[in-house]
Amino acid sequence: MQLDLAQITHQMLDGVNYGNYINGEFRAAANGKVFDVTNPATGDLLLSVPDAGASDTLAAVDAAYAALPAWMATPAATRADLLRKAAALMLERRERLATIMTLEQGKPMTESRGEIAYAASFLTWFAGEAERIYGDIVHNSAPNKRIFVLRQAVGVVALITPWNFPAAMLTRKLGPALAAGCTAICKPAEQTPLTALELGRIFQEVGFPAGVVNILAASDPLPFSDTIFADDRVRKVSFTGSTEVGKILIRNSAATVKRMSLELGGNAPFIVFDDADLSAAVTGAIASKFRNAGQTCVCANRIFVQRGIYDQFADLFAAKTSAMKVGNGLLPDTIIGPLIDLPAREKIERHVSDAKAHGADIMLGGLPYPENPSGTFWTPTVIRNASSDMLVAQEETFGPVAPLIPFDTEDEVLAQANGTPFGLASYFYTRDVSRVMRVAEKLEFGIIGANDALPSVAQAPFGGVKQSGLGREGGAVGIDEYLEVKYLSLGL
Ligand code: ADP
Repeated sequence: MQLDLAQITHQMLDGVNYGNYINGEFRAAANGKVFDVTNPATGDLLLSVPDAGASDTLAAVDAAYAALPAWMATPAATRADLLRKAAALMLERRERLATIMTLEQGKPMTESRGEIAYAASFLTWFAGEAERIYGDIVHNSAPNKRIFVLRQAVGVVALITPWNFPAAMLTRKLGPALAAGCTAICKPAEQTPLTALELGRIFQEVGFPAGVVNILAASDPLPFSDTIFADDRVRKVSFTGSTEVGKILIRNSAATVKRMSLELGGNAPFIVFDDADLSAAVTGAIASKFRNAGQTCVCANRIFVQRGIYDQFADLFAAKTSAMKVGNGLLPDTIIGPLIDLPAREKIERHVSDAKAHGADIMLGGLPYPENPSGTFWTPTVIRNASSDMLVAQEETFGPVAPLIPFDTEDEVLAQANGTPFGLASYFYTRDVSRVMRVAEKLEFGIIGANDALPSVAQAPFGGVKQSGLGREGGAVGIDEYLEVKYLSLGL
């Protein structure tokens, strides 16, 4: 099917004039500045959006702080009701939101549609949790005293999100923040602010009070960041992005002792044991590796395959990979879209040439994709006889490159899998139930998929150990990140 891609862009964005969403209204930047958002599949300009600076950020903090007392005092059932309405409107506008996401981020439409549903599920899940914020009454050692444990909103929170999941990373933070009674200032990534601003319209339309949700687009994160970290009224920052920036933010948080939640980089091992269901393992590895063109922090980064099935696995994996269609994400048959930008491609080139130099074989790909209007398309790549000391296994590749590393024993593969400073997601395939528990207990990762390559859902506590982060998002514990615990000791 031929689609008029330019026409789709016009339909979505002609006449749209986003502002930064501050205190319930869309505003131009105070200094009048704008910046361009481009389509990674074509390099074309999509739209210019206001470029928030320090004074816009301050206006958003003022608005969020002013809105806080009333929002905290709003009954949980009312907060939940608004969250559910926002989720419903997201689903009603799913096609529009998904198209805008594909235009600015590049992922295939099927993945964008899936992400909108996933993103909405965080609002629905935390609407339920809003109504289950309980306290405790505890016995005191003195007979004439009682202890009441209270859980209350942390206060104003700042939420900083990356470009790879423009909707879900935002709602995974905003859902629990709003459910808990916090007010929020959100800063989407400079590459993908349109989806977030479009979500701002939804929060406005369903009736969240002015100042409860604020969304700022900025070409440079520093004026925003400096302003929120210096301001004592912002009590918490939740960040998803690189470990490098996460470490800077931890240092920044010291000035006013802010609470921090951090979802940082990963280096996910994907282990296939000899006794695995081979076809399920290949399908799982493909899904985990190539989702979003390999640009997720939970993508399989190192695929370890036990020697007895290594050749069979490699052949099947390469055959399936070669059938994946690369192209513009708006085309219905596209499985692999573009990379976000040219630096992403340079990293991949570095990893592939290092693997070659160290004696690995390129079974498939290893080169930019031939039809490449923006230079951001990479041919899905399978590397045979890779090893743990290659760059491709040491760093998070963030692209459609699959290194297959052979191993012999369970102990050996566990040592290699854990031999990284990161600990976000890990996966393994086996049909041995005892091994499932044994390996799960030994993997030093916050997320473990056993015979499951796509374990993320709103009900699960997503997050990493080691240098992959602090705190959990989603699940019953996700709301705790936005609640402060206080206690009242009552003398009778
Ligand atoms: P990625 O490598 O995925 O682009 P980054 O960590 O650079 O990840 O960016 C994730 C988010 O963090 C983006 O919204 C970006 O604007 C923001 N960011 C980057 N550097 C800083 C910083 N020094 N302070 C605050 N936010 C930052």
